[in-house]
Amino acid sequence: MSLLVVGSVAFDAVETPFGKREKMLGGSASHFSISASFFTDVRVVAVVGGDFSREEEQVFERHNVNLSDLERIADGKSFFWRGRYDYDLNTAHTLDTQLNVFADFQPKLSEEAKRSRLVFLGNIQPDLQRGVRDQVAGAELIALDTMNMWIEVTRDSLLETIKGVHVMIINDAEARQLADEPNLIRAARKIMSQGPRALVVKRGEYGAALFTPETYFAIPAYPLESVFDPTGAGDTFAGGFMGYLASQEKLDEAAMRRAMIFGSVMASFNVEEFGTERVQRLTYEEINERFRAFKQMTNFEAIPFERAVRATK
Ligand code: AMP
Repeated sequence: MSLLVVGSVAFDAVETPFGKREKMLGGSASHFSISASFFTDVRVVAVVGGDFSREEEQVFERHNVNLSDLERIADGKSFFWRGRYDYDLNTAHTLDTQLNVFADFQPKLSEEAKRSRLVFLGNIQPDLQRGVRDQVAGAELIALDTMNMWIEVTRDSLLETIKGVHVMIINDAEARQLADEPNLIRAARKIMSQGPRALVVKRGEYGAALFTPETYFAIPAYPLESVFDPTGAGDTFAGGFMGYLASQEKLDEAAMRRAMIFGSVMASFNVEEFGTERVQRLTYEEINERFRAFKQMTNFEAIPFERAVRATK
C-alpha cells in the first residue's frame, strides 16, 4: 500500500453565502483520501461512531479507499464540525467542534499500514498524528497538516510532532501563527528549521507556494467564476499533492512542483460544490484537462520578450 492518511472522518454542518448543508460527509481524512484515490491506493486510519452508515462507507468503497484500519465504535458518535463562511470564502469560522469518538482514539496500525511509503498526518490532534508517525518509521515521505485550533491549544505537542516530518502543508495564516512571525518568507524559514525540509503554503484563491531551504515555487489558483463551498479544499489539495507523489518513483523537487499543480487542480474542483460532492464524480479526463489549463496559464516563455515589454506600456 503506497499512501496512508490519519485524520478526521466526520460529519460537517456548513453554511456559505450560497447555501447550507446540515449533515454531510467531511473530515480531513475523507477529503484527502477521496482526492488521492484518483492517483494511487490509499488507506485511512481514523475512528467513526455508529452514525457512520453504509451510505458513507460506500463513498469510500467507490473510490477503492482501503478502510481496514478504520476503527468503528458502535455506541459512539463520529467527529462533528460546524462551520460558516462569509463572502470572504478564504476564512472558515468554526462554530462547533465535537471530537466524540476521537477523544479516546489511540491509532494502532496494521502491519500493512506500517509499511506505507508515503504518510499524510491530516488535521487532527497532534498527539494522534505523532502516534501514527512513530509507527511508520520506514516511510519515505511524511507530510503534516494542522489548523489554528491545534496551534493554539496544543502548540508544544505540535512542535514535537513536526520534528519528525519531511513536508508541512498548511495555509498562510497558520504558517504565520505557528512561526509567530508576520512575514511569510521568514515564517517559512523558521518552520523549516524545526523539522520539515519543505513547506507547502496554501493561499486559498491566491494559489499556493512551495518553500525549500534553497528554492521557492509559486502557482496561482485555477480561476473559477463560481466558488460554492471551500470546506475541505486544503485536504483535497493535500490529497492531490500526496496522491500524485505516491504515483512517482522519484520524490524530488520536480515531482513536488508537478504535485503542487495536481493539488491545485483537485482543490479547484472541490470548491465548486458542497463537501465532497464534486470530487466524488470527477473523471480522469477532467483532471487532465485542468492540468493542461494550468500549464497554459503559467507559461510565459511562449510570449516573445519584445511583445511582453510593449504590452506593459
Ligand atoms: P479544510 O481542508 O481545512 O477546509 O478542512 C475541512 C475539514 O476539516 C472539515 O471537513 C472538518 O470536518 C475538518 N475539521 C475541522 N476542524 C477540525 C479539527 N479541529 N480537527 C480535525 N478535523 C477538523
